[in-house]
Amino acid sequence: MARKTKFDYDLIVIGSGAAGSTAALSVARAGKKVALVEAGVFGGESPNYGDVPTKAVLHAAALYGEARDGQRFGIRSSMLGYNFPTIQAWKQKAIKRSGSANNREYYTRAGIDTFDGIAHFLTPHEITVNRKHLTADTFFVATGAQFAQPDVYGIDTIRYQTPRTILDTKRIPRTLFIVGSDPEALEYAQVFATFGTKVYVSERAARILPSFDSSVSELFEKHFAQTLGINFLTQTQLAGVEPKGLGVRVSFTRGETTKAVQVDEILFLDRSPVTDLGLENAHVDYTPAGVDVDDHLRTTAQHVFAGGAAIDSGCTTQTAMLHGRIVAQTLLAKKPVRVPDTAPIPRVIHTNPTVASVGLTDDDCLKRDLSTNMSLVPLSQVARANVSDTSIGFVKLISDKKGLLLGATIVAPAAGEMIHEVALALNQNLTARDLAAMPHAFMTWSEAVRTAAAKLLN
Ligand SMILES: Cc1cc2nc3c(=O)[nH]c(=O)nc-3n(C[C@H](O)[C@H](O)[C@H](O)COP(=O)(O)OP(=O)(O)OC[C@H]3O[C@@H](n4cnc5c(N)ncnc54)[C@H](O)[C@@H]3O)c2cc1C
Repeated sequence: MARKTKFDYDLIVIGSGAAGSTAALSVARAGKKVALVEAGVFGGESPNYGDVPTKAVLHAAALYGEARDGQRFGIRSSMLGYNFPTIQAWKQKAIKRSGSANNREYYTRAGIDTFDGIAHFLTPHEITVNRKHLTADTFFVATGAQFAQPDVYGIDTIRYQTPRTILDTKRIPRTLFIVGSDPEALEYAQVFATFGTKVYVSERAARILPSFDSSVSELFEKHFAQTLGINFLTQTQLAGVEPKGLGVRVSFTRGETTKAVQVDEILFLDRSPVTDLGLENAHVDYTPAGVDVDDHLRTTAQHVFAGGAAIDSGCTTQTAMLHGRIVAQTLLAKKPVRVPDTAPIPRVIHTNPTVASVGLTDDDCLKRDLSTNMSLVPLSQVARANVSDTSIGFVKLISDKKGLLLGATIVAPAAGEMIHEVALALNQNLTARDLAAMPHAFMTWSEAVRTAAAKLLN
């Protein structure tokens, strides 16, 4: 940011989501002149359509599900019910409470100039937004990912749902077909199945959640099928969709056979990075997988950075925020900061039970031909399982042959909290012995982490 007098801004950030807003706020707080351009809703996906609304509705669904299944604890549920419009109102309240949802002022109060509109590069240092021309020394492309029209035969003939719309449907659908089985798909599956929807989840791969440990896929396919009646269709390819009554007829192939089901709603979750902003004019290379960046998040144009879902549509919010911080640090420190190679960033699926993982999975170790040790402790082995009557879940730890911790996968009611202990251990290069030596409070789920670490010592 050396030639700042020549340009309107030191930094223009395109996209106000987790990645863009993190960078814009940090750089503006350091006294630099920053503009933030947003084509949609300020705050981006996480507070408006993604993380916040889904977790608010999941919370309501989990309460409902637990109360309904609480008879064995003496909880009567014969009068139990739910009101979907009230749940939707609760979701809106949670969105508002996030502070950053649809809140342009949040950024202007921090001294950032905000622009509402689609940014488009005209030259390497100049963009247009609603016919306004803005120039900057540096740019951060944080345009996120979009739900493009799915490439399915007949898609033009039907009305379909995406995460932008599904939680605003007037009533809970009787039947729902979810295409894909990533974490968000399973969260929606749990919400709707808990409220009584017959849910189908289709997945091209041989198992659901292909990027997670295979023991998670096995457990969920069995547990969700048994408790919520979710129908998992693995090795399934959509053949086409067509309108049928008020709903949709979905045809799909599984192996050699083609089948069809009729559903009220179909939900598509596939996203692709947003790259249609004249990047060619700034000499920035990109592919359908996203904007090309190096280890410092620099694009093929040295003064343009990119991060978040614009470089990887599967990126989580914490990774998008990390990208924002890296870009800000590089610009402020004037020396490039690198994206950590193997940053043990925890991933969480906010279902009930929750899934969390950090570091390597069994599959990763196999692919890298690593020689490892593994321990698996079923939750039923800890005292907490007795008093909660919950035995679904496990803690799985992986270490190298010397005991250095490499990864963990946890399925437990509090897995999203428990994982951070192991994440810290991985960050600090701790061993199974270190973790096993640490006293864990009696009657917590985390005792399973200590037990799994102790098991690795045998
Ligand atoms: C249903 C759902 C649930 C999720 N839950 C979680 C979760 O629990 N935890 C988690 O870690 N992650 C979760 N995610 C993922 C998370 O939401 C994303 O990883 C994160 O929001 C990406 O942030 P971003 O800043 O890269 O992009 P975004 O938040 O998408 O921001 C990009 C912004 O750029 C704007 N934009 C695009 N093009 C232009 C242009 N030309 N000019 C100006 N502005 C433009 C867009 O309008 C958008 O607001 C979830 C995602 C979904 C869909």
